[in-house]
Amino acid sequence: MGRLVLNQLSRSFKNVPVVKNVSLTVEDGDFLVLLGPSGCGKTTLLRMIAGLLEPTSGSLELDGVDITTAPSKKRDLAMVFQSYALYPHLSVAKNLAFPLKVRRAAKQDITKRVETVAGMVEIGHLLERKPKELSGGQRQRVAVARALVREPKAFLMDEPLSNLDAKLRTATRQELAALHQRLGATFIYVTHDQVEAMTMATKIALLNGGQLEQLGTPEELYDTPASVFAAGFLGSPATNLIDAELSTSGGSITVMAPSVEAVLWTGETPRRDVVLGIRPEHLNLHAAGSSAAAPSAGAALRGTVELSENLGSEQVIYCRIGEKRVAVRAPRNQRWETGTAVVLSADTPHLHLFD
Ligand code: ADP
Ligand code: MG
Repeated sequence: MGRLVLNQLSRSFKNVPVVKNVSLTVEDGDFLVLLGPSGCGKTTLLRMIAGLLEPTSGSLELDGVDITTAPSKKRDLAMVFQSYALYPHLSVAKNLAFPLKVRRAAKQDITKRVETVAGMVEIGHLLERKPKELSGGQRQRVAVARALVREPKAFLMDEPLSNLDAKLRTATRQELAALHQRLGATFIYVTHDQVEAMTMATKIALLNGGQLEQLGTPEELYDTPASVFAAGFLGSPATNLIDAELSTSGGSITVMAPSVEAVLWTGETPRRDVVLGIRPEHLNLHAAGSSAAAPSAGAALRGTVELSENLGSEQVIYCRIGEKRVAVRAPRNQRWETGTAVVLSADTPHLHLFD
């Protein structure tokens, strides 16, 4: 089991708060990603969970037991370090046996446990190799296996892929996700990389300035961002955010900004300032004046093409809409000359409004 409850966890350094009242529950078997920009407090939060740093206030519970002040060694949590921290002069088998030898386990128990664990992460064929004879991904698996021999309740990882090149990072990411599924163990994983979060997490805790901004599945965070910050952080290119005014016109709720009009649901609303968010993949690009360019519901943004960026499989067209530059994804076989007058349209369900 590995169910972790964080209750109003805070940490300050010299009276400067760095982690602020974070409360969340990690269910047994979750792959929780602590996601957020550099400096938002991810490592500090993970170190408090690991027992390497004391909270200024708040509490921590692991499988119903309060561990707020328990020393790191007594927590049954395994930190898998970025460098993997394997002993270079020892074989994989001896690296795995090491934590058990320290505990003075019986020799035949050690051999059995090493074999079991090696089987679980599929490194049985690598047991006689030295770390330098392994690929990055294999080293990662050995590091996880070494943590696994101690039967921890959860694995903690802090940006473990940040030193790898892009290709290896992708491969190792997939391997970690598969490993998590195979083991069914609780993982708590720190990253600033939204792609890692989207692809591996069962749950994302998005942090901003030490506070929990949103907690949910990757789909929930992507489809229903709770704030401008969440909308802007997930997705690439980022969600287009436009300052707008919400009001009622002709029985419908409308959103207006320079060169932007959107008709939402029927109803009435008091006039107020909002931020309109639309993801680049939810915008359709039309030449101005074409029949497809005037939707009766949803949003229409009028402007000109400013720049196109070829991504290989598709392109991103940047358009000047009023004061704003708005990104829209387009198929690569279309040509959009700079200066072309265009209309970008989006359907109502894809419009996000933030106060
Ligand atoms: P992240 O891992 O999200 O990049 P950190 O948790 O490492 O962020 O740091 C959050 C903030 O706390 C940063 O502003 C950092 O400078 C500060 N900080 C972290 N550790 C210490 C420390 N030991 N002493 C003082 N300030 C610290
Ligand atoms: Mg960090």
